[in-house]
Amino acid sequence: MPSITRRTTVTTWVGSVPVGSCHPIVVQSMTNTDTADVQGTIQQVAALARAGSELVRVTVNNDAAAKAVPHIVEGLAKQNVRVPIIGDFHYNGHLLLTKYPACAQALAKYRINPGNCSIGKKDDDNFKTMIEVAVKNQKPVRIGVNWGSLDQQLLTRMMDENARLPEEQMKDARDVTMDAMIESALRSAALAEKYGLRRDQIILSAKVSGVQDLVDVYRSLAGRCDYALHLGLTEAGMGNKGVVASTAGLGILLQEGIGDTIRVSLTPAPGGDRSEEVIVAQQILQSLGIRSFTPQVTACPGCGRTTSTFFQEMAEQIQTYLREKMPVWKTQYSGVEEMKLAVMGCVVNGPGESKHANIGISLPGTFEEPKAPVFVDGRLMTTLKGDHIVAEFIKILDEYVDSHYSAKERQPETASV
Ligand code: SF4
Repeated sequence: MPSITRRTTVTTWVGSVPVGSCHPIVVQSMTNTDTADVQGTIQQVAALARAGSELVRVTVNNDAAAKAVPHIVEGLAKQNVRVPIIGDFHYNGHLLLTKYPACAQALAKYRINPGNCSIGKKDDDNFKTMIEVAVKNQKPVRIGVNWGSLDQQLLTRMMDENARLPEEQMKDARDVTMDAMIESALRSAALAEKYGLRRDQIILSAKVSGVQDLVDVYRSLAGRCDYALHLGLTEAGMGNKGVVASTAGLGILLQEGIGDTIRVSLTPAPGGDRSEEVIVAQQILQSLGIRSFTPQVTACPGCGRTTSTFFQEMAEQIQTYLREKMPVWKTQYSGVEEMKLAVMGCVVNGPGESKHANIGISLPGTFEEPKAPVFVDGRLMTTLKGDHIVAEFIKILDEYVDSHYSAKERQPETASV
């Protein structure tokens, strides 16, 4: 597989997690609980961490949320969940971070939105206050520009300047907005350094909701600085639309080596699983061959040659089994996340695809003999028949994992702060 050359960045440590080009791209997520609900937030953070989120962000939007943060971090530690917690601040971060020093101390990073942190103040007083708290507590910050809350003064000034240019040099409003986002991020980062934050304590993001805009803005930002970049398509949306748009945008940039930590901003269906955004982020990285998180199942789409949905159900059962086993396997076996399985619907591509996997099974299609050859490391190992094919395949899978991946020392379930 062709290798991807990461854009060179400084490394920012968020708790115990390094973010930057010398380190693996970090998967992060955000809760949607009321942060003041300590138990509810602990539960969701733990679920996100269990799903593989290496950083988790919570909103810190009022006094109750700020008071809750140290209890959340403490409660998670008691459950041995030591994933770094990031505080998301808008409008009143300067007040909350100074009024609740225990919150400022407990958080591993602060997300600051330069578009709304100094509203109602002259100059950059609120921004400066937040940076001073970060410096005092030696915490990194993410300067997170979002086009939905872009600094309107800056945008207006840049629009005016653009309007005064000769016609042939004038940019359209979309391009000026992209320029304003980059300007806001870089100007804020320079100010943060002026106020005492080290260069390696700053991560930047410039999120938009359109794929082409995302690609353009991050390419420009990446070319103008060496800060680590947080990548994400903001408000990606629900269901397939959110997954596909995020994959399209992030895939292009990651392939170009841009992005050091990613979040997939999916809107879960009511009652849906928040952890889906973690799984999608992992799958983007794994599909690009950047990181491996869980064994992959190759399954054919099925066609008129298959008489039932048995093989699709089997592929689903195997994938679910792998996900359930991975939290334990990853503490016991080195490299198991790189295992490849194939569950195929008939003889046309079944044996061929199965031979390319560590373990593959080719189920019988229409008019084929009711038997399912199983290939291990490219060789026919056995042929399964009857009503217990799934259970027998899983047994082969368990034995393969145990015999092919070396045991490793038991590790904590999640990254520690
Ligand atoms: S492997 Fe067989 S069942 Fe699956 S899509 Fe190809 S022809 Fe159809």
